[in-house]
Amino acid sequence: MAVQRTLVLLKPDAVQRGLVGTILARFEHKGLKLVAMKLRSFPASTFERHYEPHKAKPFYPGLVKYMSSSPVVALALEGVDAIEVVRGMMGATNSRKAAPGTIRGDLGMSFSNNLVHGSDGPESAASELANFFGDCAEVCNWTPISTPWIYNVAEELA
Ligand code: UDP
Ligand code: MG
Repeated sequence: MAVQRTLVLLKPDAVQRGLVGTILARFEHKGLKLVAMKLRSFPASTFERHYEPHKAKPFYPGLVKYMSSSPVVALALEGVDAIEVVRGMMGATNSRKAAPGTIRGDLGMSFSNNLVHGSDGPESAASELANFFGDCAEVCNWTPISTPWIYNVAEELA
């Protein structure tokens, strides 16, 4: 159990379909803390770096093209076990197979245009956050007044 930060991307289909507010609200309502957010048409080079681990895969060129075709919202979210919590909320990669109740399962029908990205581990979270938010100056350190109601502070944030 550790306080983590994770990178979330609301992909071009989420922005084009007007689902930014809906998806962001799910993370807020869950109790994850928003610590950085930007909407931008990022250059292909940003996604080439972001998807570097998939470089050898056949879907890589199309993936980079899709991600750089239209604006994306980048979020940094913080919370206890935030990486795993966000991954669970996203659902399976193929939206058609993603469980109901997940973002992909409730809002999407596509394998590739699957609305949302979330870091899959502490190392990828660190490098992905650096890719989208540079140094820590773009990330806000703040304490929501709701924190002691979201967590048992003595047990979970000690
Ligand atoms: N993707 C794709 N075809 C595939 C596998 C993946 O288009 O056969 C895309 C899809 O948008 C996915 C992204 O590449 O979200 C990264 O793949 P990964 O396996 O890391 O899935 P994720 O972690 O996003 O669930
Ligand atoms: Mg992944």
